[in-house]
Amino acid sequence: MYTEINSYCKEHGVTLLVVSKMRTNAEIRNIYDLGQREFAENRVQDLIQKKTELPVDIQWHLIGSLQRNKVKFIAPFITLIHSVDDFKLWQEIQRQALLNDRMIPCLLQIKISQDETKNGFVFEELTQVLQELDWRSLTHVPIQGVMGMASLTQNEFQVRNEFQTLKNHFDQLKHDFFDQDNFKTISMGMSSDYLIAIEEGSTMVRIGSKIFEQF
Ligand SMILES: *Cc1c(COP(=O)(O)O)cnc(C)c1O
Repeated sequence: MYTEINSYCKEHGVTLLVVSKMRTNAEIRNIYDLGQREFAENRVQDLIQKKTELPVDIQWHLIGSLQRNKVKFIAPFITLIHSVDDFKLWQEIQRQALLNDRMIPCLLQIKISQDETKNGFVFEELTQVLQELDWRSLTHVPIQGVMGMASLTQNEFQVRNEFQTLKNHFDQLKHDFFDQDNFKTISMGMSSDYLIAIEEGSTMVRIGSKIFEQF
């Protein structure tokens, strides 16, 4: 499936991120050998371990919820953190970026689903943070866009609606707060819903099971 999904994403100008959580090094290596270089993990511990065991030119993304006390482990090398959903976490990423003398690009995760378990800023809380707190001083955390997860449901209308909501939030944030060229990423779409996500404006999809599962 990798080759088909990769060419579909290329045709649509969308970045394909391969979600390698719970996969063995051999499985990941197979996809790497097909040319893939961007992989994502949702747990810091697994990410660190895989980074040490797999080729050094892999670009690693973090897509899962991130505890403040773990930022230091990924700060030296992480390519993109998709899961900034709290101002204190944002500040800690800035602190670790300075300590490592590098920029740490991030996305703001926004809650768009009905599911209780999904993380992310409630949009109104996020705009309040952006209006009231001193995020502009967090110079080493370039915010490149937004990330969101749709509800786990068979209802395609609902999923489409949630992706449209995220796209609207992105446009509004870009207009009101981040009027710059590097605010450009909408990370949305997984195995079950990436076709809809791309139709609704995704620029980066995060796909795991559909790539690794054999049918
Ligand atoms: C696991 C995961 C994915 C990939 O899900 P699949 O259904 O395996 O494609 C994408 N995004 C996040 C945040 C995940 O945790």
